[in-house]
Amino acid sequence: MKNLNEKQILGIIWKCNLCGFCPKDFECPGFDLETRWESSMARGRISIVHAIMQNNELGFQYSPLAKERLFSCTGCGHCFYACPSGIDIPSIITLGKKKLVDANNYPETHKLILDNIKQYGNPFGETSPRDSAWPELKSNTEANTVYFPGCMAIYRLPEVALDTIALFNKFGENIRVLQNETCCSGVLYRTGHSTQLEEVTKSMINDINNNPPERIIFTCPGCLETFKEIYGSELKEKFKGIELIHFSEYLIDKLTDLKNNSDEIAARLENILEKPIIWHDPCHLARGLGIYEEPRRILDTLNIPYIEFEYNRENANCCGSGSGVRSAYPEFSEEVTAQRLEEIKQLGAKTILTACPFCEYQYKAVIEKNGVALEVLDLNSLLTKLLF
Ligand code: SF4
Ligand code: SF4
Repeated sequence: MKNLNEKQILGIIWKCNLCGFCPKDFECPGFDLETRWESSMARGRISIVHAIMQNNELGFQYSPLAKERLFSCTGCGHCFYACPSGIDIPSIITLGKKKLVDANNYPETHKLILDNIKQYGNPFGETSPRDSAWPELKSNTEANTVYFPGCMAIYRLPEVALDTIALFNKFGENIRVLQNETCCSGVLYRTGHSTQLEEVTKSMINDINNNPPERIIFTCPGCLETFKEIYGSELKEKFKGIELIHFSEYLIDKLTDLKNNSDEIAARLENILEKPIIWHDPCHLARGLGIYEEPRRILDTLNIPYIEFEYNRENANCCGSGSGVRSAYPEFSEEVTAQRLEEIKQLGAKTILTACPFCEYQYKAVIEKNGVALEVLDLNSLLTKLLF
């Protein structure tokens, strides 16, 4: 997904040759399996956006069905991968969402997310400070490496942030967190509120600009994709030259260190989790950022056996939670996750391993609700268990 303007979007809409190769059934999480309506597949969603852009009088921007069709897209990018014309369909749908936001026709829960980010700096409305578990990292202003945990790891899955900090310590990395970290606000862009982005991230981006690190390392692929692909050129200018990477990319440089421990790791692996492990490619990490092999190389180097989904890498299926879909359409979102759990059951895996706090949270929630015997772990949490 890229931050494209209306003219660019119109240009790519016209590239659709209506071939119908867009994913359906399980590949497009937004596809309505019951009705199988055209409007619920990528081609139909593009037509809705086209109609909204070309002809206001049709009134599609006020339609409840158009709202449901566009806001039930998780932005997974599976259609972008499958489309022979190479059309960035998620970016088209995101512009359509923006048009519906302009017409005040959007899910109520997204309004709450917007209000929470504006008031509290996070989408959940949490009032506690972001750095309450590690204030020393905020005052370590000399460090050249910034760790950006993101809202999900801070407020919903703190073990992801704490395990990552423990790994940084193990590798002797001098790190800090930002003075004014706030929600990256990628969720606002992905839910059609792109005009708010600059304002809500202003103090954080100014902090980066005032005390620029050499690099910022992210554990949330959605946050990293927001910094790399979604922020506009004016925002990007303020952190120009700073390396932006995911923690799995950082770990690649540490493989030699890790390899030295591989015998010990193999021995510990026997006792700490149920096998087989299955690797889930998060949409933002994989199709979004092109990071497919790094996590696999880490697992291979450490002789950690894992199995693959039938659909993996560029063709991986979505967990169902992205782009505000979990908050707006929770039942539908959980049905998508239940499909993934069924695939996992068929493959016989007992532990899901991933590197996205959103995917992890979504899996955990649905597993708990449905009483499924499966464990879910972040790659960093697995490494922490194996190395400490
Ligand atoms: S696969 Fe691409 S070109 Fe074909 S109908 Fe879908 S969006 Fe259009
Ligand atoms: S981005 Fe994903 S959910 Fe949205 S239309 Fe494409 S395949 Fe479907």
